[in-house]
Amino acid sequence: MFAVMGKILWVDLSEGRCWEETVPEWVYQTYLSGMGLAAYTLYRAIPAGADPLGPENVLGFVSGLLTGTGSLMTGRWMVTGKSPLTGTWGDANCGGTLAPAIKHAGYDGIFVRGISPQPVYLYVDHGRAELRAADDLWGLDTRQTEDHLLALFPGRPVSVACIGPAGEKCSRIAGISNDQGRMAARSGLGAVMGAKRLKALVVSGAFPIPTAQPEEIQRLTKRFLRWANFQPPFVNGQGARLLGTAMRWMPLSLRQDGMLYKFFLTKYGTVGLNQFSIETGDAPLGNWTGTNEDFPPSRSETVNPDRIREREQVKYHCYSCPLGCGGMTHFAGGQRETHKPEYETVLALGGLLYNQDLESIFEANEMLNRAGMDSISAGGTLAFALEAYERGWITREDTDGLELRWGDSAVILELLRRMIAREGIGDWLADGSRAAAERIGRGSGEAAVQAGGQELAMHDGRNDPGFALHAALDPTPGRHTVGAYLYYEMFQLWRKIPRLPAARGPLYPKGHKYGAGREKAVQAAANSQFIQLLNGAGGCLFGAFMGLHRLPLFEWLNAATGWDLDAEAYLRIGRNIQTARQAFNARENLPLKAPINPRALGLPPQTRGANRGRSVPLEELASLYWAEMGWDESSGRPPRAELAALGLEPEE
Ligand code: SF4
Repeated sequence: MFAVMGKILWVDLSEGRCWEETVPEWVYQTYLSGMGLAAYTLYRAIPAGADPLGPENVLGFVSGLLTGTGSLMTGRWMVTGKSPLTGTWGDANCGGTLAPAIKHAGYDGIFVRGISPQPVYLYVDHGRAELRAADDLWGLDTRQTEDHLLALFPGRPVSVACIGPAGEKCSRIAGISNDQGRMAARSGLGAVMGAKRLKALVVSGAFPIPTAQPEEIQRLTKRFLRWANFQPPFVNGQGARLLGTAMRWMPLSLRQDGMLYKFFLTKYGTVGLNQFSIETGDAPLGNWTGTNEDFPPSRSETVNPDRIREREQVKYHCYSCPLGCGGMTHFAGGQRETHKPEYETVLALGGLLYNQDLESIFEANEMLNRAGMDSISAGGTLAFALEAYERGWITREDTDGLELRWGDSAVILELLRRMIAREGIGDWLADGSRAAAERIGRGSGEAAVQAGGQELAMHDGRNDPGFALHAALDPTPGRHTVGAYLYYEMFQLWRKIPRLPAARGPLYPKGHKYGAGREKAVQAAANSQFIQLLNGAGGCLFGAFMGLHRLPLFEWLNAATGWDLDAEAYLRIGRNIQTARQAFNARENLPLKAPINPRALGLPPQTRGANRGRSVPLEELASLYWAEMGWDESSGRPPRAELAALGLEPEE
């Protein structure tokens, strides 16, 4: 088959052996590759009730079907497994170079089970795989680990994914680093690597990736480049903030075209809309109790994208991406460097903590990247700790004399250091806010803003209820990359699939977003299905934001594989992937609507600020969404017959 390598690599760490498995063509036709291949494989490989940190859990590192085919913005890799943070299906997504490396090494995915008796790293080179001792790497941070490994293969194009001290210490908010500190951060899967004593993967190879119609791919790529390269000169940080303020005051919502987002992304990276998000009410503040009034422009100026861009030394791109939203920046008076902090990191360590010290955000970003810890969960957990101290749930005795104060950057950095080291109060916080609240008790769970155990990202469901809906209903709870009403507007799927309702616009009443009805459910289901399709292809969400009439995803898929499927058929593949992820949780008998902190739903509603009076009708939305996905509308369980048709369960 074209575009895929047709096999996966299996590794059993307990037995110390590696082997290949051929993937039948029907699996690709049903699930694509990437997330779909992982969902199918893990459902069958991980027994229900498996301990996420035990030998039965399987970590899957997968690249997408379109990766390496000549298509653009399709070089994301994903890591999947049972999450130690939520106990559910877990996944995380990252750019960098690992995705093409996996395919050039000869595989569509690398799946790892068991527990090694000693620290090891997995070396995969052009169809050969072996486990090598990593005792000398254990204890190193992610950048040191990667430097050490790259030095072993001078002049070779190897790609490294590794864990740092957070993963080694099985922090349930640990991530996995690639390309010197780019993080597949969510779901705590770094802890799974740590529990398996797998320090790193080193991957290289030169197998070609054949495609059915290379010339057609090239033609589509050229066409897309016209949109990707279009960049007007008027984009600036001040303008973004003013636009956010105007949108807050306007009585109507503006349907958003993702090209506007692309303009900011190209110039600034994800931080381009920092102040815009604070002004509109998208960014939660003060552990979700504050409002834009508590962090007005005079205070949020510190995260103005121009303040961050002036520290940028060089921009970088993920594999096959013309936009290049990443960059290396300097801090500490030019003495030290770190990846340009992402929007999520800046807001989770900034506004969420009322921290106005930009320098400390750069410092924390580097600490987290080196430790291999998720900045969203770390920020959310720090916010929990500040509130817990303020409300007397933890005291100075618990913190060994540290006085926790909102916005005190020295305290924030010290608390973070203790979290990474699992030292004192830091040990309580190292597994996230839900675990910390369970340990502290005294009703402190009220301040743990999470869904199903995972801290929510910096997008407020009271501003866009789609974020709350998907954070509670996606099989990986607490994620912001799995759907939002805003995303539906930007994807413009209705241009390819006429049965889907067009988003209202260009202006529509703000109240429309806060209702529950079938139209919302149809949009949310299409959103989920499309995003999982994108994950099967290895696509970047930011590319899809530009709209499916500009990003030729369906056309690339046909040209790469030689299939002749329409957009509706591809959306069905996305639905298959989402159903397999959902089935994983259903089999665990977990609640399929993750418990979510009422603050994130506007229960009770805020009485001032951008999101005043708003709440999310999650109960009604849940059953409408499940029905639209074809699952049981009261429980969210996929029908057994469908699981049999998808090859997940035997025929009855
Ligand atoms: S837009 Fe940014 S995250 Fe997406 S592929 Fe390009 S560089 Fe990577």
